[in-house]
Amino acid sequence: MSDTIFDRIIRREIPADIVFEDEHLIAFRDIAPQAPVHVLFVPKTPIATLNDLQPDQAAIVGRLAHAAAEYAKREGFAEDGYRVVMNCNDHGGQTVFQIHLHLLAGAPLGRFGT
Ligand code: 5GP
Repeated sequence: MSDTIFDRIIRREIPADIVFEDEHLIAFRDIAPQAPVHVLFVPKTPIATLNDLQPDQAAIVGRLAHAAAEYAKREGFAEDGYRVVMNCNDHGGQTVFQIHLHLLAGAPLGRFGT
């Protein structure tokens, strides 16, 4: 059984500030926010890294992106804009090995890599 910290949040074994959930995914605020809005979108299917995503699982990542965009519209910052990021393995800075999409918003974030 997959047992990352995110699986424990999904199972309600540890608390989180959950902002959205459906049968496919859960979204909650990051414990160490890097922007005024920092929400993590996590699929309920265990997949350790983006490298492990199978062709028949591609829609899982699409659902994360769609849920993030819908959240941005609901919360009223879609027009101002936001950033989504997925980290993979060491050089990508991944620390939790269950794939997740970061949604960062609420302030100008600067150009990536500058
Ligand atoms: P990664 O570095 O793997 O792309 O992102 C993992 C994210 O999970 C980090 O931004 C980190 O702050 C967040 N995180 C780690 N542990 C917890 C936790 O217990 N609760 C919440 N809400 N976020 C966590």
